[in-house]
Amino acid sequence: MKLCRFNGGRLGVVRPEGIVDVTPVLDLLPAQRYPLPRHDLLIAHLPALLPAIEAAAAVGERFDPVQVFYDPPVANPGKIIGAPINYQAHAQESASNAQIGHGRAITSIGDWGLFLKAGSALVGVSAPITLRFPERRNDHEIELAVVIGRRCHQVAQADALQHVAGYATALDMTLRGTEFQCFRKSIDSYAVLGPWLVTADEVPDPGALDLWLNVNGEPRQRANTRQLIYDVPRLIAFASSFYTLEPGDVIMTGTPEGVGPVLPGDLIEAGVQGLGDLAMRVAPDYA
Ligand code: MN
Repeated sequence: MKLCRFNGGRLGVVRPEGIVDVTPVLDLLPAQRYPLPRHDLLIAHLPALLPAIEAAAAVGERFDPVQVFYDPPVANPGKIIGAPINYQAHAQESASNAQIGHGRAITSIGDWGLFLKAGSALVGVSAPITLRFPERRNDHEIELAVVIGRRCHQVAQADALQHVAGYATALDMTLRGTEFQCFRKSIDSYAVLGPWLVTADEVPDPGALDLWLNVNGEPRQRANTRQLIYDVPRLIAFASSFYTLEPGDVIMTGTPEGVGPVLPGDLIEAGVQGLGDLAMRVAPDYA
């Protein structure tokens, strides 16, 4: 199933005939009171809601997929986790290009560990990406995103995929510089997710997906997730060896080679095989 959030809080199922509105299903979610859980409410209850979503999709209003405004398919991820230098060719370009590496010793993902992006950076694909700091370089990074479906802690690699709700196309937008990644990669609109979530049953092997990204029609990034250094099961095991993963947590799995700068007004087109494509305009002005 492909699920999207659209037009300001609506829930949709992506079908060949269009986006089918299944928003009434959200009324089945349990009422919440303070203190709120750390997980995303919809993702946590998604397995139980699937029959109701199917039933609602049989009668729901249809929307043109090119006309709707896409919100991020996960509304409230407790964590947005990033994976640095997780493709060998990107590690090499980071080590050899001072505008990317900024003097850091490019060692390994095992040595660096993971990083977190602020939830306030999250946008869907219909929002503009608004750059900060006009004198500095801001890069695109196409990535496969994993959305956690079940709480897990210290999970084994062999069991890791059982805890995945689904996958999505992601952009880990990045301000280059000397600050920590968690700071540079957490600018508002620098965490892009969507257009929709593809449930895990439709992605038999997350380790064999093509990724691509163009800027203004020019090819910039071309790779396949089989080139990941830490693949999806290992990333889940690695992340959960440090912290509990909750439903709705997002892991951006790292970007391949070909990162490069974008400027106001640029058009970013990108996708991950089977997960949907995006076409986003970099806002015409700096924030
Ligand atoms: Mn990245």
